Amino acid sequence: MQLSDQDLGKIKDLARQWGKIISEEAFGPEGPGLDVSFTNMEDVWVAAGEGLIEGVAREALGKQAENLQTEQACPQCGASCKLNSQQRTMQAQGAKVSWSEAKCYCQKCRRSFFPSACCLGD
Ligand SMILES: [Zn+2]
Repeated sequence: MQLSDQDLGKIKDLARQWGKIISEEAFGPEGPGLDVSFTNMEDVWVAAGEGLIEGVAREALGKQAENLQTEQACPQCGASCKLNSQQRTMQAQGAKVSWSEAKCYCQKCRRSFFPSACCLGD
């Protein structure tokens, strides 16, 4: 599945709406006072952006992992392997993302494999 520019535009609009809520939360309904510098405001903008990326990414990756079967075939020998999970952190564009990633270990081949990388199509 590939999102169109139009779909992505709608998502940006939604995030902008959240921006209003976050700005109010950070600076109050009247907005930042005249004593608040551009740099101080920027800290809030960046934190909000990172938090939003982390929240959306964690939710999406977590749901994707939930859709996997509890057993996966080893890509090397085809043996059925139990699905486990491990905590993983990656640097995404604009934020660091941590989530619980699905992982299998094949006893026969003595190797780990990641179903999300090998078995999930588009
Ligand atoms: Zn194997």
